[in-house]
Amino acid sequence: MKKQPDERGYFGDFGGRFVPETLMVPLEQLETTWLKAGKDRNFRNRLKELLERFVGRPTPLYPARRLAATLGGAQIWFKREDLCHTGSHKINNAVGQALLAREMEKHRVIAETGAGQHGVAVATAAALLGLDCRIYMGSEDMRRQESNVRRMQWLGAEVVAVESGSRTLKDAINEALRDWVTNVRTTHYILGSVLGPHPYPAMIRNFQSVIGTEAFSQIREATRSLPDLVVACVGGGSNAAGIFSAFVPFDQVRLVGVEAGGRGPAPGEHAARFTEDGKPGILHGTLTRVLQNSDGQILGTHSVSAGLDYPAVGPEHADWEAKGRVSYVRISDDEAIAAFKLLARTEGIVPALESAHAIAYALQVAPAMPLNARILVNLSGRGDKDMDEVARLDGAS
Ligand SMILES: *Cc1c(COP(=O)(O)O)cnc(C)c1O
Repeated sequence: MKKQPDERGYFGDFGGRFVPETLMVPLEQLETTWLKAGKDRNFRNRLKELLERFVGRPTPLYPARRLAATLGGAQIWFKREDLCHTGSHKINNAVGQALLAREMEKHRVIAETGAGQHGVAVATAAALLGLDCRIYMGSEDMRRQESNVRRMQWLGAEVVAVESGSRTLKDAINEALRDWVTNVRTTHYILGSVLGPHPYPAMIRNFQSVIGTEAFSQIREATRSLPDLVVACVGGGSNAAGIFSAFVPFDQVRLVGVEAGGRGPAPGEHAARFTEDGKPGILHGTLTRVLQNSDGQILGTHSVSAGLDYPAVGPEHADWEAKGRVSYVRISDDEAIAAFKLLARTEGIVPALESAHAIAYALQVAPAMPLNARILVNLSGRGDKDMDEVARLDGAS
């Protein structure tokens, strides 16, 4: 495959830069700084040091033997991003972009957050590097994720409630973009997934590709071969792009992205963009697959996991799907919760509900695979944040 994206930020037919004129200059500055940093040994060493000493990398590759034995099929290996500082892969990107903000001599960072995981990661990176920090969060999400709001405040961030629209992630991104337009000279916008205008999707995939690079050599060392199947959940798509990137060139490795099937296939009940309601469209500065009705109105979404609950998907995923390199499947709320509970009991690992979607898919396919086959699942985060939500659902049923 040729180098992705092209110089205009397109992955095949998807991607690009659809923004107001005022954002063209900071996006070009960001792209230049990022490309320069990639060649700068000092920057790379600084990032590597923080990933090791602060984030806790490399994260382990773990064989889930009891889980696999329960199923009676393929081996299951977990890449343990749940063991990263702050509890998910989001910190890999937050630290990388916070370092870039300093390179650009911007002393203020802003970010959006849904469940609060990206907000916590950015507030953490900002505290680490001494940057001012403001996080935009839908007021509905603030209510659902009260403890993360407090965590961000303890870390020194100002959390701003967004009251527009559905008062969730999509609205928080709109508000963060508005702030950025007004304060471009002092401020860097740390986007949380492989979304948005070029260079964000490529840059964030690169910051997350450390997951794939590590997993690739870890599984080769442990099994003397490549995995047969790599599975990751897909919200915006950053943890999936991070782990897939190392395996994309190897056609013998099957790659599967798992979307939120929610409560079912009716519009508004899920966040599965690779269905007939997911059509090419522009959202938040990029051309990609977007859940929309026939008038182009963005559809509502639902998932038990806030991190998968977004109407668009990263443009590189749209391209991988169009080219047939990655397949995308759906897992329902109920299937994800069952996987969450099974993993806790068989392996002593409480996964994030997002990650539980990827695990649920592995549970479906492992029994029919040969005993010597290997499934690599990206365990994108831990489930501490989901305790209240699962307890609430248990109470309701
Ligand atoms: C945010 C989040 C996701 C979804 O985001 P991606 O960009 O698709 O990776 C998945 N898992 C966890 C634990 C998250 O916090």
